[in-house]
Amino acid sequence: MIDVQNQTAPNTKDRAATMDKIVALSKRRGFVFPGSDIYGGLANTWDYGPLGVELKNNIKRLWWRTFVHLRRDMVGLDAGILMHPRVWEASGHVVNFTDPLVDCKTCKARFRADHLVEERLGVVDAAEKSPDELTALIRAANSPCPNCGNRTLTDARRFNMMFQTTIGPVSETGTPVYLRPETAQGIFVQYKNLLATQRVKLPFGVGQIGKAFRNEITPGNFIFRVLELEQMEIEYFVKPEEGPAAFEAWLAEMHAWVALIGLRDDHVRVREHGKEELSHYSSRTLDFEYLFPGTMGWRELYGLANRTDFDLRSHQEASGEDLRYFDQAANTRYLPHVIEPTFGVDRTFLTVLLDAYDEEETVDVNGKPDTRVLLRLSPRLAPFKAAVLPLAKKPELTTVATSLFETLQAELDAPVGYDETANIGKRYRRQDEIGTPFCVTVDFDTLADQAVTIRDRDTTAQERIPIADVPSYLRERIR
Ligand code: ATP
Repeated sequence: MIDVQNQTAPNTKDRAATMDKIVALSKRRGFVFPGSDIYGGLANTWDYGPLGVELKNNIKRLWWRTFVHLRRDMVGLDAGILMHPRVWEASGHVVNFTDPLVDCKTCKARFRADHLVEERLGVVDAAEKSPDELTALIRAANSPCPNCGNRTLTDARRFNMMFQTTIGPVSETGTPVYLRPETAQGIFVQYKNLLATQRVKLPFGVGQIGKAFRNEITPGNFIFRVLELEQMEIEYFVKPEEGPAAFEAWLAEMHAWVALIGLRDDHVRVREHGKEELSHYSSRTLDFEYLFPGTMGWRELYGLANRTDFDLRSHQEASGEDLRYFDQAANTRYLPHVIEPTFGVDRTFLTVLLDAYDEEETVDVNGKPDTRVLLRLSPRLAPFKAAVLPLAKKPELTTVATSLFETLQAELDAPVGYDETANIGKRYRRQDEIGTPFCVTVDFDTLADQAVTIRDRDTTAQERIPIADVPSYLRERIR
């Protein structure tokens, strides 16, 4: 893992994945489809297909197990997407959750001013600049519109990224509400109920997984930037003086998570936010950045922030409720500080696919050069844990294979593939391409010896084992 600022990109020549290959494979095999596809799509929206929903659920399940179930200091929450509009006034989102935008007066296209300055003018710290500073840079360079080429860009101005909707049958008389742009506020707003009902003592944390919505106008780079995203967030409440130590502890936990999901060490680095870049609520923020292929380069994967007592203090003032924690040992009341590790589900999904993708040069059955595409997914995350393949579509084989398939589905408590079409080589390749770690082949010998062949995705090595041992063999290897 790269821990320093301004690290140059490591050599990634040995990397098989490109964004184009991942987008194509995702559609071809049913991981991710373009949203509203038959209507020509809707920018920055994507749907997770049958394979994608399994991978996504496996990521979320592993996260919940790691950070909620296996810890005594954590509890879970599932708050609503719609909240009282005053929540977003108190949290600062109504005023501060903005992006600097410029419009083109000729073609009406809209751009993030900081991205434009970064990508077109090579300014490295554009995120830290005010709209006036961005405007000055664009004017000084006489920047053309990236879409139509005319030099008719407006000044940069702030644009709020929250989606607004209305509660009530008529939009004119209904109450305007926002779709939450982050899951965190649900935790702060329920903090008092959590304290009152859960017998929790500082330090403790609350984990939550859920959808959030952001009116992003920048091209999304597949599921890297979407309008409807999913977050896995933790708000960890500590005594104010223990904030910095808890921050370091969560930094270590996040490093461990990145290793657990199988991301390559040299594809991840940690970058500290400069003073100007810090969000309005944060005293310290680190971004975990991932090295995306091609022109994308290093981009934010996760964040870790010390939110101090900003949120609880703001909600206490706005709601009039006393949100202080009663510290029995010290016999005092105070507002805890909050450390927030935040993980995007969609970016996890994308980076897991990018690092799992591999190509191997081999020869096909006719001796011609061939490329084997495989996803080296950890068995924990793989959509299918195994696939059962009868060697031929003959009733004596498919009966045994179907029965084994049903046994495995039940015993592994996870999806298992079944495929009886095409030649066995093609079927292995199909499973390789979706990351199935083991293929179990039922052949004519099985009828005599009650044994099957298990093929390992990564090595393609084959092993013959008794059919009765298959569930335990797989269970041991997919944990
Ligand atoms: P960025 O700078 O890329 O817009 P951010 O700093 O606004 O991201 P946070 O507010 O810290 O992001 O959100 C927490 C996490 O949620 C991010 O680390 C990322 O994994 C995820 N995330 C944020 N915005 C999006 C989005 N539009 N699409 C997909 N994931 C997102």
